[in-house]
Amino acid sequence: MSEEAQAAFLEELLAEKILFATGVPGVVGRSATFESIVDGFDGLVKKFAKQDRAEIMRFPPVVTRTNFEKSDYLRSFPQLMGSIHTFVGNERDHMDLLKTFEAGEDWSKKLTKTDVVLCPAACYPVYPTLKGIIPDEGRIIDVISYCFRHEPSPDPARMQLFRMHENVCIGKPEKVQAFRDSWLERGLSMFRSVGLEPHSDLANDPFFGRAGKMLAVNQRDQNLKFEILHPITSVEKPTAIASFNYHQDHFGHLFGIHFEDGSDAHTACVGFGLERITLALLKKHGLDTKKWPAEIRKTLDLD
Ligand code: ZN
Repeated sequence: MSEEAQAAFLEELLAEKILFATGVPGVVGRSATFESIVDGFDGLVKKFAKQDRAEIMRFPPVVTRTNFEKSDYLRSFPQLMGSIHTFVGNERDHMDLLKTFEAGEDWSKKLTKTDVVLCPAACYPVYPTLKGIIPDEGRIIDVISYCFRHEPSPDPARMQLFRMHENVCIGKPEKVQAFRDSWLERGLSMFRSVGLEPHSDLANDPFFGRAGKMLAVNQRDQNLKFEILHPITSVEKPTAIASFNYHQDHFGHLFGIHFEDGSDAHTACVGFGLERITLALLKKHGLDTKKWPAEIRKTLDLD
């Protein structure tokens, strides 16, 4: 049933020209209407980040292959990654590439890996950048990026390329946990302020394979990940629209982020899925934003 509801909602969004199809599931164009909602909600996240004096960092939507390999992503989520390859051969290799292409065969086998991999989460480029000593009071970084996850789906809320606005806290364990918990409260009140009915729940990442099941259980047992959920195409299976993650010293240890005394920094990140939030709002209030309640239009700066 829910697949039918997903297909129907996507059909509506395309018919109203709010999204534009590309022919690949989960890869769509966005209209001015869609972007105005993205910008409006993003403005609310920015307001809180400013209150925290978060430092702004922006990266292109890639991570270096070296840092990607260091991050354990290949071990945990190989099914979601996107590696960038290109052609580096000579003229003879080029002829060979074209011959393969013209024969309708898989020419991608003739490519060579580059130094970059598509960004899997907005916070990933931040940790290697902070390598070294950080002050005892910690740091807060504000980062936005398009992220790639290879999970083609008819669900408009499961895009392969989407934007995530994250705030990352690097510091002592108490500080980063308090940061995550306060953002969870902020998140719930932000969503209520735009007429949504969010709820939060314990969650786990989609770790791959049998070993992954154990990782997921551990993550839940230790209360490391929370999500805020909202129905988009299914009330029984609401969609995660924001996530609140405590990584303990995982990234601090991997990327050499530590305090003066040599102890590893702890990190937490909070992420708002801008496309999913926009879709939740469109589903809740209707596809014509001009008919949305005046107060919500004002909160999202749609006037
Ligand atoms: Zn993150």
